[in-house]
Amino acid sequence: SKPESCSVWTKEDVVASLPEREPFAHKGSHGKGLVIGGALQMPGSVTMTSRAALRAGAGLLTVATVKDVISILASSVTEATFIALEEQAGKINSVDGIEFAYDGIAIGMGMGRHQEGEKLLEEVLKQAESPVLIDADGLYALKAYLPHLASRSSPTILTPHPGEMAHLLGVEVPELLQKPFQCSRQFASRYGVFVVLKGAFTLVTTPKGNQWVHTTGNVGLAKGGSGDVLAGMLLAMVMQPQSIEEALNNGVFLHGSTADLLTEDTHSTYDLLATDLIDGLSKTYRTHL
Ligand code: AMP
Ligand code: MG
Repeated sequence: SKPESCSVWTKEDVVASLPEREPFAHKGSHGKGLVIGGALQMPGSVTMTSRAALRAGAGLLTVATVKDVISILASSVTEATFIALEEQAGKINSVDGIEFAYDGIAIGMGMGRHQEGEKLLEEVLKQAESPVLIDADGLYALKAYLPHLASRSSPTILTPHPGEMAHLLGVEVPELLQKPFQCSRQFASRYGVFVVLKGAFTLVTTPKGNQWVHTTGNVGLAKGGSGDVLAGMLLAMVMQPQSIEEALNNGVFLHGSTADLLTEDTHSTYDLLATDLIDGLSKTYRTHL
């Protein structure tokens, strides 16, 4: 059942809400972002998130990860700075050393699932006074802290695919997919979070229960890495001068329409790679908005 208050986020909405770059802005005005994630076994996702955040418009970007991932990232995310976190068996073990003076934080991509995950999430969510976006493995470490999210003074954004959302809800995927609108809305209002439920039609829900559905994007996105790229674009967006709901909707739109442009033009839905979206974003910004 599709509730009345759900509308489609259109290109006109993007044009009306996406802020212009101010001619006298400096890098600080474009947002200082932090990405926490990565593990020795998965250096790729955090790389994609970081590059996507920079391409989407983040002014400054820091990546907090394990030492070995830094050596890989340093050459592919030249513009970022790094914090080496304490690790155990190639996974992040502590967030000690992070100062949390950021305009936006994304956590969870490629982080792996391990016992320390819950503690990491709790530390970040307690200390961060900026919007925090939680994706991927971060969502699997979140259950214990869910009841405390409503008391955070800054926005919390969850970006699950249906499997992750079903896990958070404690239901099976088919049950979630029978009523994605209702499930997202109940969850968002119960825990006071923004939910971006990803899928062929991505659904953005605010803590107050406002909801938008997205029709951009195509099956070319059904490949590893697409979600990591989206997380980076959303991180950049929440640091720009627009509301969180505008930021999330604009980010999902940019991601989906970049996939559409690329598969109409230089790529197909077979060969499209998540990294193509990062470079393809230029075309969306330059010629389609
Ligand atoms: P993840 O599963 O975290 O890698 O995220 C996948 C991304 O690709 C999300 O942004 C989804 O909305 C998008 N996506 C996956 N499959 C499709 C599809 N069949 N059509 C459109 N978008 C898709
Ligand atoms: Mg994902």
